[in-house]
Amino acid sequence: MTRITKKEDGTLLVPHHVDIPFIVGDGIGPDIWRASVRVFDAAVEKAYDGKRGVNWKEILAGEKAFQLTGEWLPEETLNTIRGHLVGIKGPLTTPIGGGIRSLNVAIRKALDLYVCQRPTRWFDGVPSPVRHPEHVDMIMFRENTEDIYTGIEFPAHSVDGARVKDFLQHELAVDFDFTADTAIGIKTVSEHGSKRLVKAAIEHAVQHKLPSVTLVHKGNIMKYTEGAFKNWGYEVAETEFTDSTYTWLQWERTKSTEGEQRANDEMRAAEATGMVIIKDVIADNFLQQILLNPKDYSVIATLNLNGDYISDALAAIVGGIGIAPGANINYNTGHAVFEATHGTAPRFANTDSMNPSSVILSGVMLFEYIGWREAASLIVSALRETILQKMVTIDFFNQMKGAKLLKTSEFATAVIDKI
Ligand code: NAD
Repeated sequence: MTRITKKEDGTLLVPHHVDIPFIVGDGIGPDIWRASVRVFDAAVEKAYDGKRGVNWKEILAGEKAFQLTGEWLPEETLNTIRGHLVGIKGPLTTPIGGGIRSLNVAIRKALDLYVCQRPTRWFDGVPSPVRHPEHVDMIMFRENTEDIYTGIEFPAHSVDGARVKDFLQHELAVDFDFTADTAIGIKTVSEHGSKRLVKAAIEHAVQHKLPSVTLVHKGNIMKYTEGAFKNWGYEVAETEFTDSTYTWLQWERTKSTEGEQRANDEMRAAEATGMVIIKDVIADNFLQQILLNPKDYSVIATLNLNGDYISDALAAIVGGIGIAPGANINYNTGHAVFEATHGTAPRFANTDSMNPSSVILSGVMLFEYIGWREAASLIVSALRETILQKMVTIDFFNQMKGAKLLKTSEFATAVIDKI
């Protein structure tokens, strides 16, 4: 058996010699994948001395799939990921026309990968626009299947748009002046979708002994969607993680019955015993908090659109999208697809110049996910050392004094030399 499977107790059974499917990706994908896979293999070899190994198994998606099979996302590709539980991919182009809005979204949907997980940490020496990027150490759990992203939209001046507006005005007595040139988009947020996302975030915090989970929302304006997300999040904490969390709701309750001093004492005592503090913050305030008080935040749980904005803002603080990894995960089935968060950067295709760290660190997440921690930490240390020695690709080179400019492939070699 060379496939990863999920055991009944929920843990993964990972064979020592394991098949892992990969999608090379479009644009800069082939350059950064070629570089990254050499780093992965070197780390696995060093960590396990031949006792463990990965057989990287190519599956097709994107332009390469279209050229070879006439399909952008062949069913066989999805079936292979289904059967192997995990996969890793380079960036994919978004086909113009042809009925697929985005290949990435299609993969997430097909496998119901409801968590988009993005860690943000700073590596010593990486150029940053802020004075203390070392204070940023967060991991975002972004809801990946709902919100305004479901694509339920009606253009201005359209017949269907007019019908939706008519329904809202006449059936539901919505008091709004819908003009013909008003477009409509529908925001969906469900109780089960919110709860499973927050549950995954809290479980991560508990397992990794992290101090807090912050629910980021815009519930002051969108009460029944974003506000409900916040309420459901607190409910998950108070019903499913009674012994391991302390919520700001509890603090409020104690304050109103026994006073603020007592509430503060209670929260401090909870912190001291390692309980995870569950708190919330309005999304716009959060965007300033990550610049002003980043130390106050650890695990972030948020809806799809907020997560999209916040993850790019966080990535910018720690060096940009060239070093930003990600994973799309269904914690119930165990399915997980790891990927760089950036796109295909088509202008730079086949230039061997872009930063492969985004894919390298996505591989680190993959190794951590399957429990190959030794390989993961070898890669992280080697990457850190390479950057500290100012051996970098063009994106960092442009912002660093006295750095040595490396091609994508040379950067991978420099990392491997330090493994
Ligand atoms: P992009 O992320 O591809 O590139 C924007 C800019 O970021 C590039 O011009 C480059 O300067 C920089 N950049 C990106 N990756 C880098 C790296 N590894 N190292 C250094 N610098 C890097 O965004 P875009 O140009 O808006 O999108 C291009 C295509 O990618 C579109 O078809 C889009 O739909 C697709 N896309 C795919 C994904 C994905 O597969 N997950 C994500 C976003 C966009």
